[in-house]
Amino acid sequence: MDNCIFCKIVKKELPSEIVYESDNVIAFRDVAPVAPNHILVIPKEHVESLSDLDDEKRKNFLPEIFGSINELVSKENLMEDGYRVVTNCGKDGGQTVGHLHFHLLGGRGMQWPPG
Ligand code: 5GP
Ligand code: ZN
Repeated sequence: MDNCIFCKIVKKELPSEIVYESDNVIAFRDVAPVAPNHILVIPKEHVESLSDLDDEKRKNFLPEIFGSINELVSKENLMEDGYRVVTNCGKDGGQTVGHLHFHLLGGRGMQWPPG
């Protein structure tokens, strides 16, 4: 997608601090972190949100996305104190970038329910 900022990050046309990369998945630090550890994990292929995954994409992406999150949790030392994984879908979900992404948040205590 030509105008998608996350596709530009995938193609390295926009700079980002990449913390994980494979053929299908990339993870980078959020430019405006809301927690001491704030990483975005995305499929390299442009998919708008969780609602737009078909069966094949679901099987291709989700196991690796969650596997990479497990790796990052270890690397960032979040196992002991805990962390949160969030994906915002659409307007009511608060999604602002239309390329599927999972927020990995840690390094501080968090509230529930979110606002
Ligand atoms: P959403 O609100 O869609 O769930 O989350 C989008 C996230 O992308 C936000 O936390 C925002 O700070 C982050 N973000 C937006 N533009 C950029 C960018 O150019 N680089 C990086 N690293 N993060 C971005
Ligand atoms: Zn995209």
